[in-house]
Amino acid sequence: MSSDSPSDTGSAFQRRLWPHGFVPGEDGGVPGDADRYRSFFEGVPVGLYRTTPDGVLLDVNPALIRMMGYPEGIPAAGMRADTVYADPEDRLRWQRIMEREGVVQDFEFRLRRPDGSVVWLRDSARAVRDAMGKVVWYEGVVEDISDERRKVQALREGERSYRSLFNSVTEAVYIHDREGRFLNVNDAVLAMYGYTREEIVGNTPAMLADTERVDMEAICTHFRRALAGEPQQFEWWGRRKNGECFPKEVTLNRAFYFGEEVVIAVARDVTERKRAEERLRHEALHDALTGLPNRFLFMDRLAQAMRRAQRHDGSCYAVLFLDLDRFKVVNDSLGHHVGDQMLVRVASRLRGCLRPPDTVARFGGDEFVILLEHVAGLADATAVARRIQGALAPPVVLGGHELIASASMGIVLGGGDAEAPEHVLRHADMAMYRAKASGLGRYQVFDHAMHEQAVHRLELEIELRRALERGEIAVRYQPIVSLSTGRVVGFEALARWNHPERGCLLPQEFIPVAEDTGMIQPIGQWILREACRQLRRWHDRFPEDRSLDMSVNLSPKQLVDPDLVASVARTLQETGVDATSLQLEITESALIHSTEPVTATLRQLRAMGVRLHMDDFGTGYSALGYLHHFPLDALKIDRSFVGRMDTDSKNSQLVRTVVSLAHSLGIAAIAEGVETEAQLAGLRGLACEYAQGFLLAEPLAPEAVETLFRAGTDGAAMLRVVAARTGDGHQTVADP
Ligand code: C2E
Ligand code: CA
Ligand code: CA
Repeated sequence: MSSDSPSDTGSAFQRRLWPHGFVPGEDGGVPGDADRYRSFFEGVPVGLYRTTPDGVLLDVNPALIRMMGYPEGIPAAGMRADTVYADPEDRLRWQRIMEREGVVQDFEFRLRRPDGSVVWLRDSARAVRDAMGKVVWYEGVVEDISDERRKVQALREGERSYRSLFNSVTEAVYIHDREGRFLNVNDAVLAMYGYTREEIVGNTPAMLADTERVDMEAICTHFRRALAGEPQQFEWWGRRKNGECFPKEVTLNRAFYFGEEVVIAVARDVTERKRAEERLRHEALHDALTGLPNRFLFMDRLAQAMRRAQRHDGSCYAVLFLDLDRFKVVNDSLGHHVGDQMLVRVASRLRGCLRPPDTVARFGGDEFVILLEHVAGLADATAVARRIQGALAPPVVLGGHELIASASMGIVLGGGDAEAPEHVLRHADMAMYRAKASGLGRYQVFDHAMHEQAVHRLELEIELRRALERGEIAVRYQPIVSLSTGRVVGFEALARWNHPERGCLLPQEFIPVAEDTGMIQPIGQWILREACRQLRRWHDRFPEDRSLDMSVNLSPKQLVDPDLVASVARTLQETGVDATSLQLEITESALIHSTEPVTATLRQLRAMGVRLHMDDFGTGYSALGYLHHFPLDALKIDRSFVGRMDTDSKNSQLVRTVVSLAHSLGIAAIAEGVETEAQLAGLRGLACEYAQGFLLAEPLAPEAVETLFRAGTDGAAMLRVVAARTGDGHQTVADP
């Protein structure tokens, strides 16, 4: 359709509109009809046209002219219809349909206007034939469907963008109908599971579930709730087409999809998160350095083993507590890096000694603990201990050093009798300490005597903490006598614990506990102060005895206290005692292991005027070379040598050697534990300067000392004290 000569006027156009008698008025219809049809033809808002069979436009109504983009009144007749198609193919298509069917219905095509713009038209036409059946013309109705088209276009676009949105979401999105069947899924689902959309749509979620792990009943409940408008979130296990399973997190929401009420599921693969959680859990239960289980996990396994043992009579488990020997030396001398590597090696050797159900854990530092499951008896456990000794024996080569790992082990055999896991562990630890004390690389099986001892010690520890504040610690004073003058020259302060139930406890029963628990610092300080206060009181009360000295024992643990010098100075100042009246007794062992700071402490004390006596001389190391390194003022000969002087000539010889050693160093000798006249005479003969012992006086309460003073402080008085103790009922004078 088109118009030919746009130069025709409107009236000429109208006259030419019906040249072949098409208008009814012209072939003899009722006058006026022609007018009506013309008005219809011209006023109708759809396009009307007629063409010759070969496509020349005969008639075109104004509406169509407008559609075609020509000004009002321009006649289109004479134009070739095929020139208006934007796509010439369309015309051929139209032609073919028309030739085949005789009608063309709702033929949609694009028309290009003279200004180049394009409109969408819909054409319905028929062929009009003469009596012979020959086509005379074609006539048709044309509508402008551009608006409609645009709407459809917009809809299509909408759908396309919805689809691309749907598919571009990285989460898997599923649309379920009310029965739970898949209506649609996005591309992420296809990628996640390896199925095609066709395989999935129409199926139920069970198709994508690891049904061994997923409770489908529970999933149905979630689905029903979501459908009722209650959003759901849960985890489940998916199964891919290839059978692989993976964890995912799913949310369900009710929604509308193309007018239908549906449930939209959004799922995320949470394998990574699960892995991270798994890693965290692993870290919480394992030692970072060796990868072995940690204390927490071990205690859990031990508790399980104990429960099993309780259930099945006769089933046993064993715990091995293992502590490396001299590991600190490796760490301190070769550095933590080497120490760490050593621990890693040890860990792997230990693992190699165990069966799969057994557990080896690292408790930190160089402590490893092993749980042996299902052992038949103690022999099984000690066999493992020996296997471990064997496995640790070959040297470990680290950074060019050959290191020997050895371990001390404590073993506890556990059975059905219920005990808390902590107790079992503590027993194994106790046995390990015993093993360590007996030498390196040993093992020791726990027995109940160890436990009793430990309990006893624990009680003592608790009570000792309160002893000071409750005033249960007391000091006894044992006189020290000059062998040349027979006079008392001073006292050794000796600690006592007046225990409310156990009576008077001697130092060996509580000093070691105090040393182990750190209580030795406050206790030692208190004794020092008490001894100084006592000395000051005696100096004041018995001015003629102003030269009396006080000896106080120092524990090796006190010697390493950096505050010791200041604390001694403070005490002397507060009690008003002259530093030269104080002697501190130090054991040989404290000196032999001494380090630079200890030596410095001793020098500082000495510089203050305090004198230093070496206690228990001869019991320890007998290495004399180091003696001159220390600023000593006297050697105290241990009572074990003095005690055997009269029976054993070898001991007499030893005492003689010590005395002459002291003299060669230019210092005095003090004999301890003198119990007999013969010893006293022997010591005098060796020119030993001082003596102390039960023969002269036991450690005395302060009042007993004062009685002594009133009697005079010479040796004769001492002997009177002894007589009082052994004979005539004046026992109150001696140590109560
Ligand atoms: P030590 O320093 O060798 O003290 C001398 C010990 O010999 C004292 O025992 C004393 O009572 C005892 N003794 C004295 N004369 C005789 C005797 O003729 N025969 C016998 N068999 N023993 C005699 P004690 O009081 O039981 O003290 C034992 C150890 O406890 C002391 O040995 C000392 O090492 C330590 N100790 C005592 N008091 C303290 C203290 O206040 N602090 C520290 N750190 N240790 C102390
Ligand atoms: Ca002493
Ligand atoms: Ca001693």
